[in-house]
Amino acid sequence: MTETAPSWLAAADPRGLRRPPPPATPAVLALDVGLAYREGAGQCRALDGVRLALRAPGFVGIAGPSGSGKSSLLYVLAGLKRPTSGRVLALGCDLGRLSATERCALRRRHFGFVFQQPFLVHYLTAAENVLVGAVRPDRAARRRAEATLSRLGLQRFAGRLPHELSGGQRQRVAAARALMNEPALLFADEPTASLDHASGAELMGLLHEYRQARGALLAVVSHDETVIAGADAVVRMWDGRLRAIEAATPPPEI
Ligand code: ADP
Ligand code: MG
Repeated sequence: MTETAPSWLAAADPRGLRRPPPPATPAVLALDVGLAYREGAGQCRALDGVRLALRAPGFVGIAGPSGSGKSSLLYVLAGLKRPTSGRVLALGCDLGRLSATERCALRRRHFGFVFQQPFLVHYLTAAENVLVGAVRPDRAARRRAEATLSRLGLQRFAGRLPHELSGGQRQRVAAARALMNEPALLFADEPTASLDHASGAELMGLLHEYRQARGALLAVVSHDETVIAGADAVVRMWDGRLRAIEAATPPPEI
């Protein structure tokens, strides 16, 4: 991954810190992160002592068996879950030191998420569903929502309800919702797991197109090695720990 800090890092601090960080500053940094869930009288350690630096621009894959902590790691890095120990810094902000409002504002403005299921609002059109992701749903946001749908090849479907779309189209609407604020950090948890291979490949192609055009970080959890092939780094999880970090995985032979 390149060591050059993209210009968007400078504008990312919600408290208005404008000075760009030194070039080697990672976009996301996990310092001894632990996440424990209460389980009966005991605890389940979903994450245990995870140290990780993700740089932008870049593409990082997160792999591992079911229950190894992949989703937990992604959600902690993305500020969707608070670690029970350790710290996460994203875009120069210590997520644990932000208020809930500041954390929410940072996420909404600079982070994008794509989940396994599109989670669309069933009574809103595709365009309205994209607008749900807007920082402020004003006229400019409406135009941006439509432009993002077009960029993802959904111009003709903007007025359709989710049940009038195919599974692949619904997931592309969810991706448009994630991309409409042009996030610096894009997180995806098994984004292709509910799609056929062609729709999954198409979705990943669009996420990569965005990543490259924006100079963003794309972090993807997947069981499917073809989805994370070509990543700058693959994080292998095992029982809540980092088992290995593999750099620059070559695409598999066909
Ligand atoms: P993966 O995404 O690799 O399948 P997860 O991060 O979802 O793994 O889960 C890691 C561990 O944490 C698993 O043992 C899982 O059962 C447990 N876990 C995840 N979410 C919860 C929760 N909300 N409550 C209790 N345990 C959980
Ligand atoms: Mg998971």
